[in-house]
Formats: sequence, structure tokens, C-alpha cells
Amino acid sequence: MAMNRQRLFPVFIFLFGAWTVQAKDTDQTRLAREEMVAKQIAARGIEDSHVLRAMRAVPRHMFIPENEARFAYDDRPVPIGHGQTISQPYVVAYMTEIAGIKPDARVLEIGAGSGYQAAVLAEITQEVYTIEIVPELARWAASRLQLAGYDNVQVKQADGYYGWAEHAPFDAIMVTAAAPHIPPPLIDQLKEGGKMIIPVGNPYRVQMLVLVTKQGGEVRTQNLLPVSFVPLTGGRE
Ligand code: SAH
Repeated sequence: MAMNRQRLFPVFIFLFGAWTVQAKDTDQTRLAREEMVAKQIAARGIEDSHVLRAMRAVPRHMFIPENEARFAYDDRPVPIGHGQTISQPYVVAYMTEIAGIKPDARVLEIGAGSGYQAAVLAEITQEVYTIEIVPELARWAASRLQLAGYDNVQVKQADGYYGWAEHAPFDAIMVTAAAPHIPPPLIDQLKEGGKMIIPVGNPYRVQMLVLVTKQGGEVRTQNLLPVSFVPLTGGRE
């Protein structure tokens, strides 16, 4: 008996240590974020003060599974399980800046994944909705957002192709998975004067990040830059 307890003790310490690393924001993680914003975000031309503040504020490491958390502030996407990834920090900042989120905006994200992009949006505005198709990731995103204190985000497990009609129209819609075409239900749920940002194209090749605007009832699209996202599954009537 005594022998067993001795053996279990280090295991307990190890697990507790790993948990605290992920659950806490420390001087070290804050510093890593300052450096991330300076070198990857501001240096590449992101200027919106709301976006820069949000990128400095959100503890990105808390949204990444333990075994990958040490890569949280690297200049690249990071695996989050289920074949999915959390986007590269610059891509998150760029898409958020282009979407032009105001503090009173109602925003819909498709592809909650880790919950990180939703947290960045929630730093800027009061009302964020996010949809995730993989049940385990929907639960993960909801738990991470709660742990990090973002109670202004609603997470739903569903097929985001159809949007979230109940809360429409949205000032901004951000799709974080590549779609072969722009889902018509999302265009319908975009507010007049609103902006949607979505990667469009073949999921296994380079896609184009597209800005969709609705002005005077007219829908316009504008190609922004080539990107590489995981595919938007489901939907597609
Ligand atoms: N925004 C995320 C990263 C997204 S990765 C973050 O900040 O971490 C793309 C996510 O879109 C994956 O989690 C994938 O499961 C999800 N996804 C793919 N197709 C979807 C669909 N039809 N509806 C909702 N989510 C979808």
C-alpha cells in the first residue's frame, strides 16, 4: 500500500504541473505574446489598435492541447486534434482587422476549433457566436473560453454552413475553414453594411481569402490573399 502511494505521488505532481502550465497566464507567456505581436503582427502591418490589444490579451496557450502548448506563440498553425489546427497568429489578426469589428458588433464565427479566434473577437466586442461541427472540439472550445473568462461567447455544435439564423443578422461573419463556394445561408445572415471573410477554394490546395460585403442589397466579393485552411465539411446542398 505504502509503496503504491509513493509511486503515485510523482505522477500526481506531474499532472498538476502540466495543468497549471496550461491554465495560467504567467510573465513568461505574457512576454511571449508581446514578442508575437511585435514580430509577427505589428511588423507585418496590422495597425488596428483593438486587434493589437486583443492579440496581446488572449492567452493563446490556454486554447492549445498540452502536448502542443509550447508552440502556442510560434509563427505557424498548431495542431489541436481531430485533424484540425489553430490558425497562425498573423492570419487571426489579419482576418480580424479586415472584418472591421466594432465594440458593439454582433459576430458569427464558423469553425470554433480551439476557441482562440472567438476569444480574440470577444476581446473586441460584446456578442460573439461560434459554431463547430466536431462535437469534441465544440466542447473543448466552450471549456477553454470559460476557463479564460470569456462569458460573452456562445458555442454551438452544428454544421456552420447554415449559419445561426436565430441570432442573425450579423455585422461580421468569419469563416475559418475553406469552402468550395460561399454558403448562401451566410450571405443571407449578413447585415446590410456587414462584412464576411471566408477562404474559398479547393481544400487541398491554396485557397483565396475573400471579403464579402453587402451594400445597398448588392453583394460584392474581393480577393485578398492566398491562404491554406482545413476544409469546411458538411453542408453543401
Ligand atoms: N478558428 C479556429 C480554427 C479553425 S480550424 C481557432 O481559432 O482555433 C477549422 C475548424 O472548422 C475545425 O475545428 C473544423 O472542425 C471546423 N469545421 C469544419 N467544417 C465545419 C462546418 N461545416 N461547420 C462548423 N465547423 C466546421
